[in-house]
Amino acid sequence: MQSISVAHGDGIGPEIMEATLQILTAAGVKVKWDPVEMGEKEYLAGNSSGIGKNAWDSIRRNKVLLKAPMTTPQGGGYKSLNVTLRKSLGLFANVRPCKSFHPFVPTKHPEMDLVVIRENEEDLYAGIEHQQTDEVVQCLKLITRPGCERIIRYAFEYARLYHRKKISCFTKDNIMKLTDGLFHRVFKEIAAEYPDIESENWIIDIGAARLADTPEMFDVLVMPNLYGDVVSDITAQLSGSVGLAGSANIGEKCALFEAIHGSAPPLAGKDLANPSGLLRASIMMLNHIGQSETAETIKNAWSCTLEEGIHTEDIFRTGLSKQKVGTQDFAKAVVERLGKTPTQIKPVSYAKEVKIHIPPYQRKKPREKTLQGVDVFIDWKGSDSDELASKIRKLHQDFQLTMITNRGVKVWPEGFEETFCTDHWRCRFELLPGAAKTGMGIAELLGHAVENGVEVIKTENLYAFDGEKGYSLGQGQ
Ligand code: NAD
Repeated sequence: MQSISVAHGDGIGPEIMEATLQILTAAGVKVKWDPVEMGEKEYLAGNSSGIGKNAWDSIRRNKVLLKAPMTTPQGGGYKSLNVTLRKSLGLFANVRPCKSFHPFVPTKHPEMDLVVIRENEEDLYAGIEHQQTDEVVQCLKLITRPGCERIIRYAFEYARLYHRKKISCFTKDNIMKLTDGLFHRVFKEIAAEYPDIESENWIIDIGAARLADTPEMFDVLVMPNLYGDVVSDITAQLSGSVGLAGSANIGEKCALFEAIHGSAPPLAGKDLANPSGLLRASIMMLNHIGQSETAETIKNAWSCTLEEGIHTEDIFRTGLSKQKVGTQDFAKAVVERLGKTPTQIKPVSYAKEVKIHIPPYQRKKPREKTLQGVDVFIDWKGSDSDELASKIRKLHQDFQLTMITNRGVKVWPEGFEETFCTDHWRCRFELLPGAAKTGMGIAELLGHAVENGVEVIKTENLYAFDGEKGYSLGQGQ
């Protein structure tokens, strides 16, 4: 018997979990539930991650977690439990199917049937943030080749397994040429290995606009973490209600299944919440653990309930729905329909083997990496970039000051007086021809800066890889 960790959550969590487990038990799932404590209670007991040791032990032992939504307490010092779980357990793929159940669930997009596959560990969610000056804070966006390859290959394998025809990649590589540029480049490389699946790339802004307007033109979508977070909530809402969608967080060793929505505190304890998101997540979980026949039975019973007009408040519409039910009565209605086949919503038939295996990452032969210079970031309260340039341009004989930018816009040489400047200046020093291409010169340059009262807040080395510059130029150049 498969043992699965189960977290009952906060807010509406315990109610929708009770409803879901009632349905799973009645359907005869072969699972031993292993309850774990995490969330608000753990946070308030002083555990800043919201997850205690017993919960970690259970999840790592069982490898699968069914999780109801959790409340992150207000105020600083509390880390997101979801981000911690995803990153600590290596859950790199977040899979969020969003389908319309028209006409039973009102939506403007009756043909919509798509899956958002979101990279789940990287991007701005690395959570590396710093305040560097009085006026400027920064968050580091990390995109890695192994991370891109894994999620994009997962998306193509998913499309093949589920007979999907097309994958759309969303990036903003017209602006973030290196980070989103890498995601897009890897997408093109991997797409070439799957000629049977159509592939396309959208700049996220227009792609998201088209998605909100015409979701039926999309099939599988793959994108970096933050875009996927935003886009998948929009698609869930477009399908009718955030209360309907479930998600799978998949890793090499562990997997976590949950509704996409939060703990909805105003609905808590009122028997009003729709348990469908968590139930659909648990259907994904049953497929994952090889109990696809039970998953089919439950999904078909759920579809029967919907098409018979038995609806929770969030999707109830007078004239369209037949009976308004609470959370627990909705679960009872699904249980009563176990074994039935829907007549209007298409019955499901799941593949018997749904595990996607991604080959281990193969590191490529490293390219030749040569030091070109250094960007020195300086906290300076002045406003005249000529003054700053004359203060720092002679800091080291091996380097030439070639550019100063403020918020990425070139302000020296030949800046515009219209450009607004903060106290955060990026000063680019490029190595002169013939200078040693080692870090020693940079260390000396920084020493001279300190001696001259220049407040260096950070540096970024400038490298070329096989002669290709691995850093952005200042806008305005
Ligand atoms: P929310 O998803 O809880 O609620 C958004 C809206 O959707 C509300 O109007 C709510 O009533 C409605 N809604 C959500 N689930 C529903 C359901 N099953 N049935 C009917 N209506 C439903 O988002 P929020 O209000 O921004 O967040 C509340 C709390 O949830 C916060 O503490 C947040 O940190 C947490 N949260 C947790 C998770 C998670 O555990 N995975 C995800 C998102 C938010």
